[in-house]
Amino acid sequence: ARQLVWFRSDLRIHDNSALAAAAAKGPVVAVFLHSPEQWRAHGHGPNKLDFWARGVSALKQSLEGLNIPLLYCDIDTYDQAPRVLLEIARRHSIERLHFNREYPLNEARRDQAVIDAFEQAGLAVDGYHDSVAFAPGSLRTGKGSFYTVFTPFAKAWHKQLGDGQLELRDPPPPQARLPLASDPLPAVSPQQEIAVAIDSWPAGEDAAADRLARFLRFRARHYRTQRDFPALHGTSELSPYLALGMLSHRQCLQAVLSENGGTLAEGDAGLVAWVNELVWREFYQHIVVGFPRVCRYQPFQEHTGALPWRDDEAGFKAWCEGRTGYPLVDAGMRQLVATGWMHNRLRMVTAMFLSKHLLIDWRRGEAFFLHHQVDGEFAANNGGWQWAASTGTDAAPYFRIFNPTTQSTRFDGDGEFIARWVPELAHLPSKARHAPTAEQRGDAYPAPIVDHKAARLRALEAFKSLD
Ligand code: FAD
Repeated sequence: ARQLVWFRSDLRIHDNSALAAAAAKGPVVAVFLHSPEQWRAHGHGPNKLDFWARGVSALKQSLEGLNIPLLYCDIDTYDQAPRVLLEIARRHSIERLHFNREYPLNEARRDQAVIDAFEQAGLAVDGYHDSVAFAPGSLRTGKGSFYTVFTPFAKAWHKQLGDGQLELRDPPPPQARLPLASDPLPAVSPQQEIAVAIDSWPAGEDAAADRLARFLRFRARHYRTQRDFPALHGTSELSPYLALGMLSHRQCLQAVLSENGGTLAEGDAGLVAWVNELVWREFYQHIVVGFPRVCRYQPFQEHTGALPWRDDEAGFKAWCEGRTGYPLVDAGMRQLVATGWMHNRLRMVTAMFLSKHLLIDWRRGEAFFLHHQVDGEFAANNGGWQWAASTGTDAAPYFRIFNPTTQSTRFDGDGEFIARWVPELAHLPSKARHAPTAEQRGDAYPAPIVDHKAARLRALEAFKSLD
């Protein structure tokens, strides 16, 4: 009997739990529900939506190789998902619906509504925990609660990881052709607002696999020593692929296992450090399930809801435009706006600058990031922002406030990254690029919009006012 696989942020045929389980039961029909209004309402911008569309088109090609037709439906909002999926199931005599679960609150509610509708209609439905090694909630502290601190979470993750848990799901063999054609996909029209260069971020699982292989071959072993330097390509640049499931965490971890003598927790320091980041990714996926208030614009640490955030439109605008007068902060913000991606070190530096130095509500920064990021992903973005703002799980202690100039001399010592993104300063000797004097800046580059020391004290006062 026919099976329906609903693809969402799992745009691949390799190692896909829902697809593998469905194909084992019968011939597969695939569906994608395109809901741009809902995604925009959630804050995603054109960079991610474009990458998503290109990913669906690559998925369609992969599915065609398996003779699996891909149905494509436009829905405005998630509310329509149960009705549309039921209609498809009835029209095509579907026995069972399969999908890989998504964890942020609205996605989880949508999925539950679909499950309820199918069960009421007497149709079978299965949701799989595919994007994480452990189903959120299945990894708990000795007291039975969700972990709220990363290190013990990571320890438990490594310790409890069972043998078969990272086993790859085989892609199904080509099936006999069904009397059903794929729907045409809307043309992806290049829009002006899209900053992401298609050559830099080709979509689809082949591109992702290729990038993973190149990372492991050339860079992974240097990851620990190079990952913090934005001028280098020291990280994998796989985040957009992981966010939309063009690549799975299992594929990444299996690749590490085979490079690292079969272990994840010890061995090559670069590989081990990289695994740790994949565990961070999973940690935040568990957090959104354990503490759904973070999906409702609430801080994880509830008492920080009372922080006296400043209204400062001019400061916010300067931050968005990369004109704060702190060259490393500005370089990071300009990289984000111009390319749709920002290096992790700079995400931390810029997020802390907004939430601490400018004392502007981190939620404004979270939304700005999500709008621009090609890898925008609720759990990681929210987790990263709440970390920087010291409102979250395992957050930076509020009194540890990065000095943006020190970060600059440490992580962009030669001012190379600054010269790339802040060309107004490129003519200066490299040491002068971190904090140019008035004379060096001239009219071309702004003076710092806040003084580090004063801003730091202001942030400390704000946090102390919570006591
Ligand atoms: P690598 O260093 O190669 O890491 C491998 C993978 O691990 C990444 O692709 C990503 O999937 C995961 N990962 C790495 N670091 C983290 C982390 N701190 N938290 C969760 N997952 C991680 N990551 C996103 O994928 N989407 C976001 O929207 C996002 N927003 C962020 C916002 C802020 C304020 C901060 C501080 C971090 C954010 N991150 C986000 C995490 C991190 O910056 C990016 O995952 C990373 O820069 C992507 O580059 P990479 O693929 O080269 O990472």
